[in-house]
Order: sequence, then C-alpha cells, then structure tokens
Amino acid sequence: MQRERVSENVFWFQSEIYAQVTAGVVAGPQWAVVIDTLALPEEALAMRAFVEGTLNLPVRYVINTHHHADHAWGTCFFPGATVIGHTLCRQILLERGTQALDSARKLNAAFKQIKIAPPHITFDEGTMSLRVGKKTLTMMATPGHSRDGISILVDEDRVLFAGDAFLPLPYIVDGDVDELSTTIKRIAKMGLENIIQGHGDIILRGEIDQSVRENLAYLSAIRKAVRAAARRKNPLDALAEVSIESCGKSRVYLGGLAKDLHIRNLKALYKQISGEAARPQQPALEVEL
Ligand SMILES: [Zn+2]
Repeated sequence: MQRERVSENVFWFQSEIYAQVTAGVVAGPQWAVVIDTLALPEEALAMRAFVEGTLNLPVRYVINTHHHADHAWGTCFFPGATVIGHTLCRQILLERGTQALDSARKLNAAFKQIKIAPPHITFDEGTMSLRVGKKTLTMMATPGHSRDGISILVDEDRVLFAGDAFLPLPYIVDGDVDELSTTIKRIAKMGLENIIQGHGDIILRGEIDQSVRENLAYLSAIRKAVRAAARRKNPLDALAEVSIESCGKSRVYLGGLAKDLHIRNLKALYKQISGEAARPQQPALEVEL
C-alpha cells in the first residue's frame, strides 16, 4: 500500500494489490474520517493502523463513495465508526451485498473476514457537510460509474475525492454513460487543486483539463463506436475491432486492466443500446471497479 500526504491532514492511499484502488483519510484534532477502504482486509487494517498508531486518532466516520467491494467492503474493520453513503449504497449493500460476498469468498478466502457494513447516515440529493477540525468535507452525488456514487470535496484545499466518478479509464458497466459525462463536466467546473481518482494516481491542477477532455472524449468515442457497430450485420464482431487506442486511451492504465475494462464498457453499452438487460446483476469481482 502506498501512502502520500495530499495537503495538511489529508492523506491518500493506493493499493498495490488490486487495480490501483485508492482511499483517503482526513484527520482532525480528536478523530479522523476514512474515505473508502481499499481492496483487501490487510489493506483496510493497514490504513487503520496508520490512523490509530501513527496519527494516534480514532476513526469516527467512514465514508463509502459507492457500494463496490474495493471501496466499501473494508468498512467492517472500523466497527466503532459511523458510516456515511448514498441512500442507494445502503440499499444495494443490503439487497446484494451478502450474495456478492458469498461469491467472493469462493474466489479468495481473505473475504471470510468481511462483514457487510452498510451506511448509517445516508443522503441522495443536494450536499451534506462534515466538519473535521479546520476542514469542511462536502459530500455530493456523482452518479454515472454507479447509481450510488458520491464524491467528497475538502473545501478549504479544493481536493476532490471523486470515487470512481473519475478514473484513468471511465467505467460504465454498472452505471450510465450519459450520467457519467454530466458528472465529469460538473467536476471540471469545481476549480480543483487535485482530483483523487477512485483508481490510479492523483491528478494535479495542471493536468485536470486534459484528463477531463480525454475522459469525455473517450465516453463519446465509445458511444459512437457502439452505435456504428449496432448498425452492422455482425455487431459483436464490429465491437471486437474497436480498440482502446482508437477511443483515445491507453491499455497500460490501471495496472494493465484497462483493455479488459474497455471491452466490458463496449459490451455493456451495446446491451443498453440494443435494449438487452440494461444493468448486470452483480459484476464478477475481478472486474468490479
Ligand atoms: Zn466502482
């Protein structure tokens, strides 16, 4: 697990195990807030050891940016904390969490330690604020990657923990391409110093415009490519020819997962456009970002 200080009392963590997934900590004088919980129990526990040991603070709140395993499942390792998330995050974890966890346990015994811990405090529109020492965290819905996505702005520092609303490769398999474009455009106007992506590296102020342009271009490129493929005689063959590079992205992103994720984006979009089951039940864990 990598760790970096983003600004005063704001820390960033990145998994070295799974898809460069990230998490954060905002520390106050008496307690800390954890934002997402990384991929595996050992990483959630390492974050907790940093907060409780190095910072010498208890974790009072855990914020889930969305319900996906690599962001929310480590919440159970902070049993004293109050959990905050989108209303749908709570609903989805309650409805599908146990089943998803059962399948995950068959793939990896480490998940035996996990218990689903859905948010106690939820919201679905507008913003919600949490004051941590001298910092104000403003939480807002940022759907598109998933229906329950939220992002957390550290107001004073203009640092946005975007969750998976912002990624090196936008991923819409469990979400909606138009919603994600709208969300990315909103993020672009926030006047940010840093974007903490849900996976991958921190985006610095000078890189934000370019990243926004690239992500919006990618989403419109896949929309266009899938519509064109749908008109062909063999749409799935046509889809297979749509390379990630032709949509303006590189396959090296996300520790080499990008190409696979790109193919899944195309297939999901094709299903949506051709009117097949719009949303997958529960994406297999190894490709769930
Ligand atoms: Zn996700």
